[in-house]
Amino acid sequence: MRLSHYFLPTLKENPAEAQIASHRLMLRAGMVRQGAAGIYTWLPLGLRVLKKIEQIVREEQDRAGAIEVLMPTIQSADLWQESGRYEDYGKEMLRITDRHGRESLYGPTNEELITDIFRREVHSYKDLPKNLYHIQWKFRDEIRPRFGVMRGREFLMKDAYSFDLTAEDGVNSYNAMFVAYLRTFARLGLKAIPMRADTGPIGGDLSHEFLIIADTGESEVFFDKEFLTMEAPVDTPDSDAGLQKIVDTWTKPYAATEEMHDADKAAGAGELVSGRGIEVGHIFFFGDKYSKPMKASVQGPDGKPTNVQMGSYGIGVSRLVGGIIEASHDENGIIWPESVAPYKVGLMNLGAKSEDCTAACDTLYAELQAAGIEVLYDDTKDGAGAKFANMDLIGLPWQIALGPRGLKNGAVELKNRATGEKTEVATADIVKQLAA
Ligand code: ATP
Ligand code: MG
Repeated sequence: MRLSHYFLPTLKENPAEAQIASHRLMLRAGMVRQGAAGIYTWLPLGLRVLKKIEQIVREEQDRAGAIEVLMPTIQSADLWQESGRYEDYGKEMLRITDRHGRESLYGPTNEELITDIFRREVHSYKDLPKNLYHIQWKFRDEIRPRFGVMRGREFLMKDAYSFDLTAEDGVNSYNAMFVAYLRTFARLGLKAIPMRADTGPIGGDLSHEFLIIADTGESEVFFDKEFLTMEAPVDTPDSDAGLQKIVDTWTKPYAATEEMHDADKAAGAGELVSGRGIEVGHIFFFGDKYSKPMKASVQGPDGKPTNVQMGSYGIGVSRLVGGIIEASHDENGIIWPESVAPYKVGLMNLGAKSEDCTAACDTLYAELQAAGIEVLYDDTKDGAGAKFANMDLIGLPWQIALGPRGLKNGAVELKNRATGEKTEVATADIVKQLAA
């Protein structure tokens, strides 16, 4: 993408309304703009990141055997009356009355709707297990929308729903999602800690929250300080062996949190430290909480109707954009993990007034694209200082600077955004090096 053709309204100054780094940086890097309290437009750069996160979440759901559907944002109030949650959900639910006086709502979550779909279509235990998910906008009329997309009113969530015949099978489905979440967060370059959680209004028996440790987190958490020194998974996301190592490591804390829970949260267990966490995912197993009132049953092997055992599994896809930035930035801007970076490479023409330099940059741009490398090409007439500052702000993993001096030497300057390391690379080798 040529910057001169793009829509990237960056800001030099810190916007006064932003209290935390990710909100500040998302506004400054031209990723989002607020439409109303807690409701955002995703500008092109932000949208690319959102889509990449969404795709990683999708791939790991698919890998775990979940099947994608797409439910609507607007739901009928009837189903929520059946489950008893129409009243219980309270003011967070945005209620809508249509021209015929029918009550509906903008979905804050989808247990009722998916249970209705399931009960109409599935009638035999032979069709189990099933896990259906979608990635759809939700609305919750949060009392205090804040921190940009981290606590919005409209936000993108992946929510999956599992259906099993027995509680034992249900827990197996839960565990499969637990592992899928570990893989997902590792691929996003995050150290997300699974914590045993209370089930709250969704109800049920077994629940974990996945938290990123950050000073700006809204939840207070206690965790083993060993987790802080654990290697971040950034280098391993694409290798199956690397991911397996992460899953193995976290399966141990899973066991430990279960023990802690049993020992009544082990208040005062020596090695625990307290910190702040950002909740990026939440999984529940809740048995027949919805299937019973909504009569979602299948015929069991004995021929008798049996209420299905359900779980639900959420990931805050739009919250993750802010969460990743909280976990990965410096004083100059964002530092994207390669897996979710809007572009892998930023190419800067430092000699935009010279025809030769511009021609060399244009050629390099075409070669990078031909090699399938995602590149944002700063072909504007801005000065070098502004170009470097802008590239640091938007946080692409690699920066290539090509100016008149480099042109003479047949070399470009390559900078790694995360480490700040700069190297001279022969122009002839740069595409090969970045494609590797
Ligand atoms: P929180 O305690 O932060 O309000 P929750 O327990 O209400 O979260 P869930 O109902 O479990 O959230 O929703 C699943 C996921 O959706 C959460 O883990 C979080 O990542 C995301 N999420 C929830 N509320 C919001 C919001 N207002 N803005 C952005 N993401 C949200
Ligand atoms: Mg909430």
